Amino acid sequence: MPDLIKTAKFGGTSMADFLAMTRCAQIVKKDPDKKVLVVSATSGTTNLLTQLFDSTCADEKRGILKQIRERHLTIAKSLDREAEISVKLINLLDELDEVSLSAKTVTPQLKDKLLSFGEMLSSTIFAEVVSQVTGEEVYWLDAREVMITDHHHTAAEPDIEAIAEKAEEVLLPLISEGRVVTQGFIGSTKNGRTTTLGRGGSDYSAALFAEAINADVLEIWTDVTAVYTTDPRIVPDARPITEISFDEAAELSVFGAKVLHPATMVPAVRKNIRVYVGSSIQPEKPGTWILKETRSHPVIRAISLRRDQTLITVHSLDMLHQHGFLARLFRVLSKHKISVDLVTTSEVSVSLTLDTGANAPGRENFNEEVRKELSEFCQVEIENNLSLIALVGNNLHTTSGLSGPVFGALEDINVRLICHGASSHNLCFLVDSKSAEGVVQVLHKKFITDRIK
Ligand code: ADP
Ligand code: ASP
Ligand code: MG
Repeated sequence: MPDLIKTAKFGGTSMADFLAMTRCAQIVKKDPDKKVLVVSATSGTTNLLTQLFDSTCADEKRGILKQIRERHLTIAKSLDREAEISVKLINLLDELDEVSLSAKTVTPQLKDKLLSFGEMLSSTIFAEVVSQVTGEEVYWLDAREVMITDHHHTAAEPDIEAIAEKAEEVLLPLISEGRVVTQGFIGSTKNGRTTTLGRGGSDYSAALFAEAINADVLEIWTDVTAVYTTDPRIVPDARPITEISFDEAAELSVFGAKVLHPATMVPAVRKNIRVYVGSSIQPEKPGTWILKETRSHPVIRAISLRRDQTLITVHSLDMLHQHGFLARLFRVLSKHKISVDLVTTSEVSVSLTLDTGANAPGRENFNEEVRKELSEFCQVEIENNLSLIALVGNNLHTTSGLSGPVFGALEDINVRLICHGASSHNLCFLVDSKSAEGVVQVLHKKFITDRIK
């Protein structure tokens, strides 16, 4: 057994083609401690599989299947053992054709089954690339043998105890022999049905694997060199962050920083696993360490943006000096499995936000039926096309004189809802989606770029 055990996750762009996979294998080769290698589907494949699931036209399905087949068999052409690996890929691709073209009903189970092929294909190729680059024997593991979940298809919840048991039984013995390549994102119910952890879930899978084997470090290799002070696609002069705390990183990801799946930090916090985020394209560039404790504690470390938010405001004069209204409201929401993110209340109204992004689990749950049920005891107003902006840092709830400069910088912006004080690590608010990127740019300049100069 090595002294340290590291779990390394390589995302979609890191799996884009043979060259990208080779770069990842070279990162692996340099470090004997990287024992469990968790991979995403090749970039764009999960989107193609989602289109395949959504398609009702056999010709269109065949076109998508052909595209998926070609892109994987093309990567395999660069392998020394092309013939052997292509046979494995063709078996998977034939099964995918069969599952997709013979499906009679469109169900979440079918979606999970189809989407799982993305990671199955990429991991089959990547295991071979690692073996070719390192010259070592590499074990390929079907993640579904370990990643046991509930049966909540498309957004399954991991069963931590079962995963730990299976890891002990299946994964740890393999690690003592050599490196293991497995899939992110996919899991299995106890009855053997394929599930997925939700879009972007490979980060979460890697964290769960790391937890299950008591890894010392979890590495997330992606297409940016680090976690940045905000999404570099929105603010090109965003700064890489050297160190950030578990709490801050959790807030940042929950509030929209795509670089980490929102649940990634949960297993890391439970087992105090250090997390490193680095670039598989420029691995020599310094990345970000996510740690329990950091040396600095800036009030504002980073800014995140989450699009596709819906604001529901309910009013009722009956609320005035009454009890039970909130309980009744949340009973209805809970009955329909509606996940509420932010809440603010006044004497006669309550505002709450829902995530209605294309990949948000349960986004369709807030439907006409819920609206009708609520209308029986209050007036309901719905506003779409909003975005949530969060300032993430430390002691935001006790720092005096913060909201003045923040909202002063946004004089012309209609701020729809503000949450301040509930968390020491964030101050967040809703704005119209059209102005959201501009707001991030203004705040980033004022509170990060200009302060660091
Ligand atoms: P992967 O395929 O490796 O999982 P993702 O596309 O899911 O990669 O996540 C990486 C992307 O996250 C980056 O390309 C970047 O645009 C985006 N991102 C959003 N917020 C941040 C942030 N604060 N720091 C770094 N990247 C961010
Ligand atoms: N392949 C999955 C997705 O694109 C999971 C992941 O990449 O994290 O959502
Ligand atoms: Mg991702």
